[in-house]
Amino acid sequence: RILAKQFLSQEGFAVIEAEDGIDALQKFHKTQPHIVLMDVDMPNMNGFEACRQLRSLPTGKTIPILMVTGRDDITSIEKAYEAGATDFSPKPTNWTILVRRVRYMLRASATLQELRKSEVRLDKAQRIAQLGSWEWNLESNEIYWSEHLYRLLGVRDLCDPPSFEAILRRIPFAEQDRVEKWYRKTLKSEQRSSINHKIILPEGNVLVVQHQAEVHYDDLGNTRLMSGTLLDITQLKEAEEKILYMAHYDSLTGLANRMIFKDRVQQVLDLSIRHNRQAAILFLDLDNFKRINDTLGHAVGDLLLQEVAERLKNCVRSYDQLTRLDSQQVARFGGDEFTLLLSEIQQPEDAEVVAQRILDAFEHSMTLDGHEVVVTLSIGITVFPNQGKDVDTLLKYADTAMYFAKKEGKNRYALFDPDMNETEQRRLKVENRLRNALQNGELYLNYQPQVALGSSDIVGVEALLRWHNTELGDMSPAEFIPIAEESGLILPIGEWVLREACKQAMEWSNKDLPKVRMAVNLSVRQFFDQEQELDTLVADILRETALPPGQLELEITESMLIDDVDQVISTLYKLKALGIKLAIDDFGTGYSSLSYLKRFPVDRLKIDRSFITHVTSNNNDSVLTLAMVAMAHSLKLKVVAEGVETGEQLEFLEERSCDEMQGYYFSCPVSDQKMEELLSSQSVDHVVVEADNI
Ligand code: C2E
Ligand code: MG
Ligand code: MG
Repeated sequence: RILAKQFLSQEGFAVIEAEDGIDALQKFHKTQPHIVLMDVDMPNMNGFEACRQLRSLPTGKTIPILMVTGRDDITSIEKAYEAGATDFSPKPTNWTILVRRVRYMLRASATLQELRKSEVRLDKAQRIAQLGSWEWNLESNEIYWSEHLYRLLGVRDLCDPPSFEAILRRIPFAEQDRVEKWYRKTLKSEQRSSINHKIILPEGNVLVVQHQAEVHYDDLGNTRLMSGTLLDITQLKEAEEKILYMAHYDSLTGLANRMIFKDRVQQVLDLSIRHNRQAAILFLDLDNFKRINDTLGHAVGDLLLQEVAERLKNCVRSYDQLTRLDSQQVARFGGDEFTLLLSEIQQPEDAEVVAQRILDAFEHSMTLDGHEVVVTLSIGITVFPNQGKDVDTLLKYADTAMYFAKKEGKNRYALFDPDMNETEQRRLKVENRLRNALQNGELYLNYQPQVALGSSDIVGVEALLRWHNTELGDMSPAEFIPIAEESGLILPIGEWVLREACKQAMEWSNKDLPKVRMAVNLSVRQFFDQEQELDTLVADILRETALPPGQLELEITESMLIDDVDQVISTLYKLKALGIKLAIDDFGTGYSSLSYLKRFPVDRLKIDRSFITHVTSNNNDSVLTLAMVAMAHSLKLKVVAEGVETGEQLEFLEERSCDEMQGYYFSCPVSDQKMEELLSSQSVDHVVVEADNI
């Protein structure tokens, strides 16, 4: 000890001495030296035991320990190493050499420390990256696993010798063969390659890993090492699946979306052509979704769509045997549109059977958030390959057929027919031309007189819209007004008609012509205009044109009165409050009922032309006409007969005390100049605007 201290101090080492093993352990704990030199023979606790205990301390694991042994027998040396000694030095000691040895040991220890540190760093990085690595020395057949690989594979026992088999054991049986083949292939190849596979952890959790491997060659080109990494990509995979799901399925209903549906149609289309089979597309649209959404709110609207999806799925399930449908064959196509693909049908009638069953499935009401709702659907059907060879055409035709089902009265299906296409094309053309009709000044009004029975005085005129387009010619209102209504174009057009008619009535008044009523037709859409309240619009126009309100009459049809009764009634009362008159047009063709008439503040009923045409020849029509006149009079309403064409009809109505008539017998609708002539032929002092009778 004395000599060692002397030599080492001379060389610049700070030396701490300990008397025996016990003293050494205490001093080690306190001073934390860089190296320990100790004799095997010590009092109280020998060197082997002291060495062992040092190694068991957390700070003693990596400290270099040099054992000085007096006995040069092999067993002592072995024992020293077993106890954890780094090296040994036999006695008698060559002090100069010992000092050198201590220096080298310290240097090696520092390198080792650095290596440990970088290993720890690597392990930390691997843990963060969810990456484990392995290395296989192909010559020695030694295999190394990084610490995180043990963790990744759920191998707790670090003594479990790492091996390729140990990895394989963690791979699901079904994938083992594939991974083994990849491994062998990689071993022979010169490139890095990768494979994704699953790992089943001992607790049963399943991971998805990306496994990469590469072979390293020495300078002579001999294979020497193979190394690889396993990257945990479970979360990535989950996210990927979610994205894929979101891209293919509708999140609200869980049904396939438009994109995947179209893919599916394409597949089935290819097969149908190859196997000479037929298939069909059903295009479904809810009939009254917008109204439910607007009145009950979007949350209920969402519930409704989910319920619809559920019912469709159920329908599909029960036809599974028949048509072999899978989940991708029912889709939410968008909004309140759904599509169904019947991949194998014998004849178009099979698709009709399915369509009818779907309609039946919607007969029962559904309860949504406490609201009882009845939903109906309109369905269009296309059959391929007969009616179209590509997906988009087939879908377009199915949509067209659906549109026809709606037009025919909704809650029904329609099979596509090429004629529909022409009609649809015409409709689109008309709509397009109509879009610019107002700006281009293609619209104008005709006027048809309404005359008092008995005196034959003109008491009113009805403004009737006319459209002349250079390409389409003179268009019938029966054709273009429904299109204007569907497209919403009726809003600006209706406003224009109203303003134009009021202006015209005022112009005639200013010319001292008889002050007749001006009747203007209204569309139901004008009652539900989101941007402009109807009563405000009418009030504005009356103010603008200075027409006395009592001279304006608005005609509404019966069907308007059933759509959304409460809102219509409230608007009608507001209109009435302006002082204008209201008439019910085409009376008798809708759901006319006395009780409901009492709820509306109307002044006049216009009996529909269909009753008047045969009023003198058909007993039914004459009875009904008389009943309507009597009913109207009991409610103190005036009656106008529409479409009077003959003297007999006129006579009949006159005798039955009908108030007024309108029809070709007196005059068909005429231009403003012609109307002016008719008015001026009437005596000027004849004032025909009656007192308000409500
Ligand atoms: P409506 O309001 O019932 O108008 C009466 C229709 O009967 C007019 O057809 C008129 O020409 C026709 N008519 C009148 N007397 C006779 C007759 O003796 N015999 C025959 N066969 N027909 C007669 P028009 O002008 O073709 O209008 C058709 C429908 O278009 C109108 O029916 C009305 O519902 C609608 N309409 C016309 N103008 C407008 C408008 O400015 N706005 C709105 N929303 N609808 C309009
Ligand atoms: Mg009318
Ligand atoms: Mg009418």
